Amino acid sequence: MIRLQQLKFRLDHKKGDIKRKILKVLHVKDNQLLDYSVVKKSIDARKKNDIRIVYTVDVKVKEEEALLARSKKTLMTTKPTSYQFPHALCQLDDRPVVIGTGPAGLFCGLILAEQGLRPILLERGEEVNQRVKDVQTYFNTGELSISSNVQFGEGGAGTFSDGKLNTMVKDKYKRNQKVLEEFVAAGAPKEILFDSKPHIGTDYLREVVQNMREKIIGLGGEVRFHSLVTSLVIENEAITGVQVNDSEVISTQHVVLAIGHSARDTFRMLKDMKVAMEKKPFAIGLRIEHPQIMINKQQYGDYYQHKALPVADYKLSHHCLNGRGVYSFCMCPGGYVVNASSELGHVVTNGMSNYLRDEANANSALLVNVTPDDFPEDDVLAGVTFQRKWESLAFDAGGRNYHIPVQLAGDFMVNRPSTELGEIQPSVGRYKLANLRECLPPYVCDAIQEGIQAFDKKIPGFGRGDAILSGVETRSSSPIRILRDDIYMSNIRGLYPCGEGAGYAGGIMSAAMDGIKVAEAIVHNK
Ligand code: FAD
Repeated sequence: MIRLQQLKFRLDHKKGDIKRKILKVLHVKDNQLLDYSVVKKSIDARKKNDIRIVYTVDVKVKEEEALLARSKKTLMTTKPTSYQFPHALCQLDDRPVVIGTGPAGLFCGLILAEQGLRPILLERGEEVNQRVKDVQTYFNTGELSISSNVQFGEGGAGTFSDGKLNTMVKDKYKRNQKVLEEFVAAGAPKEILFDSKPHIGTDYLREVVQNMREKIIGLGGEVRFHSLVTSLVIENEAITGVQVNDSEVISTQHVVLAIGHSARDTFRMLKDMKVAMEKKPFAIGLRIEHPQIMINKQQYGDYYQHKALPVADYKLSHHCLNGRGVYSFCMCPGGYVVNASSELGHVVTNGMSNYLRDEANANSALLVNVTPDDFPEDDVLAGVTFQRKWESLAFDAGGRNYHIPVQLAGDFMVNRPSTELGEIQPSVGRYKLANLRECLPPYVCDAIQEGIQAFDKKIPGFGRGDAILSGVETRSSSPIRILRDDIYMSNIRGLYPCGEGAGYAGGIMSAAMDGIKVAEAIVHNK
């Protein structure tokens, strides 16, 4: 196949234009073209008066060799490739246990199931339909379930998310492609296979995780909900089982720890059981909301209402005078801010959207880097103590009833509690106007203040006085790393730290890909 890159078109181009361009670029007749497919689609909005759609296409022609030989241009060729499990089939003496059904656990479980190893997946939370009800009850009433919430339950933290599926992780082995193809097979829109910024939305994710569960079960695996792993059984520094809900013991010599970044009780259990861990830097801050139409206008100029353009996003960063970095993170176009608490007496925010991204506001976290030097103690779980402090102050600022504290950007800049909203309505559900400076360290507030001023120069209006701030945003990534060696095992043999909570991923795609790597390692190490 021949790969053609950088085929640029106007926004209102017709479908047939791609074919015409292929014929023109390759100098071939219509009857010589056997087939073509779009493998990448992106938007070039660098020139606001000339925004283009850019395609990469793979083309099949008759007599490809002859065409390549006579072409004056150097043409790139490609072969269709897909993910291949890298090891021979094997038998394990027992069923591997995967703790957690977030993207890391689900993909680890799927690959193990495809290898005929009949994994048992243990999830502390509810299956997704009950989980959706529990989360809605929490949003409506403030009644928080500590086992079924935005962080815990089927699909993990990503289920209530914007479902951005991009990753910076290199993909020599096509694990990325495997993840996207499995998502599509489980009901996700096909566009994610070629969009340069693939996104799936919480609405599709809810269906996808159920279908993936069914597939794992169909392959001989098992998925158990309400199954909190409360202890590990360790003999001679090797795992021999896990204890569930302080009672049942499941014997196994292969355990995957895909527990996410919010399983603080499990982190403590791992520390007590002498599983090697270290503190790691992460980032904290607030979420900011603007009208999506304002972001569209700034990013797309006169084309801001064009139907061929996706809802606009942004990615911003700034180095502050106090030496800290401040940056936008998990930007959700046309989405909601969510109340993502998982512990009683704590409030934490995040962002999510539906596939259409058609809500009024754009939201994004504004995060500032923090390091173990900022943490209050030396303990390996000091980062958790640090997160809890700010989440607990946010709970206080919200009125101690799980309302999200909210402040206008203009008031935040002058350290004044907000008393009324401007033109923008917050999307956060139940909220209380407050002073968010009371919920974060001064160096973080200073950096956010400086960042908002700097970002306003890049996106005019970013610093408008009535932009909505809410918080706190403390769960951007894990505060710890569970150490693993080059065969992916922890100091406890047979125990495999995996995904975001263990410190090896930073989003849905990288967590899923890490799950695949760990499944490969389990078979490789046999
Ligand atoms: P998790 O998804 O956190 O899954 C861990 C699972 O383990 C949970 O279901 C938990 O209940 C379970 N568990 C924990 N401890 C135990 C135990 N002891 N026993 C049994 N089960 C246990 N990332 C993106 O890439 N794009 C986005 O758009 C995006 N938006 C987000 C929006 C929100 C609201 C949130 C909260 C996160 C978002 N993220 C996003 C981050 C993304 O969800 C995570 O990076 C990803 O889910 C991490 O996957 P994981 O499998 O490592 O852990």
